[in-house]
Amino acid sequence: MADIIMRAKPVVDEMARDIETRIAQLAEKGITPKLAILRVGAREDDLSYERTALRRAEALGIDAQVFALPSHASERQVLNQVEAINDDDSIHGCLMFRPLPKHINEQGVCDALDGRKDIDGISSKCMSDIYSDIPCFCPATAEACIRLLRHYDISLSGKSVVVVGRSLVIGKPVSMMLLRRNATVTMCHSHTKNLPEVMRAADVVICATGRAKAYGAECFAPGQTVIDVGINFADGKLCGDVDYDVVEPIVHAITPVPGGTGSVTTNTTMEHVVVAAEVAAGIR
Ligand code: NDP
Repeated sequence: MADIIMRAKPVVDEMARDIETRIAQLAEKGITPKLAILRVGAREDDLSYERTALRRAEALGIDAQVFALPSHASERQVLNQVEAINDDDSIHGCLMFRPLPKHINEQGVCDALDGRKDIDGISSKCMSDIYSDIPCFCPATAEACIRLLRHYDISLSGKSVVVVGRSLVIGKPVSMMLLRRNATVTMCHSHTKNLPEVMRAADVVICATGRAKAYGAECFAPGQTVIDVGINFADGKLCGDVDYDVVEPIVHAITPVPGGTGSVTTNTTMEHVVVAAEVAAGIR
């Protein structure tokens, strides 16, 4: 049995208490934080996350509005929507589902979003800030990994961390955030040779590849901490990238799926909206 199951619940409860206090302070100034959700098309995973985000926003007292465009919307139409969100002073943050349909220049759309509303760190400017250690909104999932490690007292300084997956959403930003915390980071991807061996040698492993239960006992060793970012379906059930049932008895600490990184990510997004509202109100 793992010594620690790194469940989201205590992290989320602590965040919710803080968020609610700050929302009450904003309410005294007549401000309600507001999230815009921009969706192009109707992919099932986007719709599912949208429902979760709307529920969470409502529970915390954050306004949320969905701006949905059809999958055949032109790049101009998407840019017009982003510009309308930028111009709407009642909106403090925007969550845009990606990937966008292939006919749209995604980075161009991300870069059109007002930096003050870029609560998921999607713009090139934000990415560059992360690499330069300049404070900004980090992508919520990457930040959720760090929050879980911090909450469960997993030290990072001098530790060897293997990040499997190198996407702009998770792998790359979380690697930079780990480096800033003095971890020795190895980034792995689909061309990495001897991946199980590389993973077994780490103190901490973060899996973010989207491969259901792909990492089993051969990839892990006693004493390790495992953060499973994957959200996949296998046999009709939600599961991570890690084969939890066989890995959990081996390692020191592990996040479950569901109930791990996903819930912390949603709450991190909500917290970013509150921060953006505080900045807009001049109280931060
Ligand atoms: P991407 O598809 O953008 O990236 C996947 C990464 O995994 C790539 O870097 C790819 O390598 C790597 N990879 C693929 N196959 C292998 C392999 N056989 N061995 C090693 N590395 C491999 O995915 P995302 O980063 O967007 O998402 C990853 C997972 O995280 C998904 O399950 C997604 O659903 C989940 N997710 C979870 C969130 C949460 O809140 N918990 C939020 C967002 C996503 P290469 O670059 O070489 O192709």
